[in-house]
Amino acid sequence: KRGYDVTRNPHLNKGMAFSLEERLQVGIHGLLPPCFASQDMQLLRVLKNYDMKRDDLDRYVFLMGLQDHNEKLFYRVLLSDIERFMPIIYTPTVGLACQQYSLIFQRPRGLFITIHDRGHIASILQNWPEKDIRVNNSNIRSIFLMSCGHLLSCVPDREKALLKDPLYIGLRHKRVRGQAYDDLLDEFMKAVSDRYGMDCLIQFEDFANVNAFRLLSKYRNKYCTFNDDIQGTAAVAVAGLLAALRITKSKMSDHTVVFQGAGEAAMGIAELITMAMVKEGLSKEECMRKIWMVDSKGLIVKGRDHLTHEKESFAHEHPQMKKLEDVVRELKPTAIIGVAAVAGAFSEQIIRDMASFNERPIIFALSNPTSKAECTAEQCYTFTEGRGIFASGSPFDPVTLPDGRTFYPGQGNNAYIFPGVGLGVTACSLPHITEEIFLIAAEALAQLVTEEHLAEGRLYPPLSTIRDVSFKLAVKIMEFAYKHNMATLRPEPSDKGAYIRSLSYSCDYDDFVVDSYRWPEDSMSVQ
Ligand code: NAP
Repeated sequence: KRGYDVTRNPHLNKGMAFSLEERLQVGIHGLLPPCFASQDMQLLRVLKNYDMKRDDLDRYVFLMGLQDHNEKLFYRVLLSDIERFMPIIYTPTVGLACQQYSLIFQRPRGLFITIHDRGHIASILQNWPEKDIRVNNSNIRSIFLMSCGHLLSCVPDREKALLKDPLYIGLRHKRVRGQAYDDLLDEFMKAVSDRYGMDCLIQFEDFANVNAFRLLSKYRNKYCTFNDDIQGTAAVAVAGLLAALRITKSKMSDHTVVFQGAGEAAMGIAELITMAMVKEGLSKEECMRKIWMVDSKGLIVKGRDHLTHEKESFAHEHPQMKKLEDVVRELKPTAIIGVAAVAGAFSEQIIRDMASFNERPIIFALSNPTSKAECTAEQCYTFTEGRGIFASGSPFDPVTLPDGRTFYPGQGNNAYIFPGVGLGVTACSLPHITEEIFLIAAEALAQLVTEEHLAEGRLYPPLSTIRDVSFKLAVKIMEFAYKHNMATLRPEPSDKGAYIRSLSYSCDYDDFVVDSYRWPEDSMSVQ
């Protein structure tokens, strides 16, 4: 590429970091201010601008704009302080950005495939310029399959409001369900795998509950795919539990877990807890008896109405109960996990009860965004007098109790899992992603938590180390895949760490100066 287009291509653009030589050789001299600024200098400019933004949505829009015009600088900014930027580009601000998608839309990213494109997905994919699709900060061939953010969760009232919104940029009809929807997805899965290979990872996210389970079981053994809301959440939550076990000095099978919520997140976590208990030697039935769930109709028990196939597995013989407070009092769980998006569901009474029958109660308030959390970090630490082992879905600030002790709440952020899983899976060309992969990822993540972190209340390594975390998870996944004959990349890389690192994304700008050198004078002399 040469000329003006280089300055307009986000992958190539270096802002003012083009040297004079590059500007002359590439044919862009005069198209940039007469200033040469390193990536470091440009980082400072971005940070200063960022500080002037009024709210998180503005910050999100600003960062996405940067990604659209200077991609390497964008990732450099993120890596400069990942703890600061993660809540903006990911949970919780990204949820708000999805809701405001039509309003803040500036430039399309990714592909838009609608129900009217059935029969033509392969040709739409041909319009995508890249042969490899990369995601996050790793060199992962992956596709995010989002059910168009602006109809997130498909809440009927929200759908109605969107369809009336003159600025709405989606199709102006209700969501299509049934056979047409399934056919579209079948075609999509096939078209993507045909174009990018069977080892191209297709990640499902934000699909409505009923479709998510169905599609996962339909595709998991056919394609290289996983559902982040079910499996990624499961791995990050189980990693938190495994780290908590190091504090309680107990085994997973010593615990009784009550879930508030019985949807995608709850089912995924419960499945993986069961796997971890089975690994400790229990039968699957024994494990499942230790897991209880409460949904919008109350405690899930045998013979109750409204039991889906997934809920049926966790329905036990017990009288019906409606209120979570009563369930907690009755079952005396060692851990409660909130994934129902019911704000404040872990009342003071529930937290105090948990602290009365557990030395170290495990209390995970995983619902997002922050406003939906089951309890705050402060409530958990205060009502348990600092004994609660807490993790949340959205970030909470550290909490200092009146006695001076400070706790750093763990954030069960899926971003600890999916980049590492994606990297490990694609690095060794796994054709399918089995559930064990997520248990391996959870165990690897929990092992990265140091004793010092645990003493401060942290159940996850600091977010600032997330890149390194992803590399380590990927290496563990590769080792597991080769050991169990699941990997298809041959020959097997002997140094997996070095191999994984060689695939990683670099924020360094490319060099545009052409390779220039001379021959000996006499060989170059003009005859
Ligand atoms: P989902 O599939 O829609 O499930 C929601 C569940 O909550 C359903 O089982 C629903 O009951 C139940 N529920 C609703 N109102 C309730 C009430 N008043 N009492 C008890 N249960 C109630 O949603 P999801 O994907 O599992 O996500 C749930 C929450 O978890 C969201 O806030 C999400 O942000 C959060 N989450 C966090 C993480 C993370 O921290 N890393 C990851 C994923 C999800 P019915 O089945 O009866 O409808």
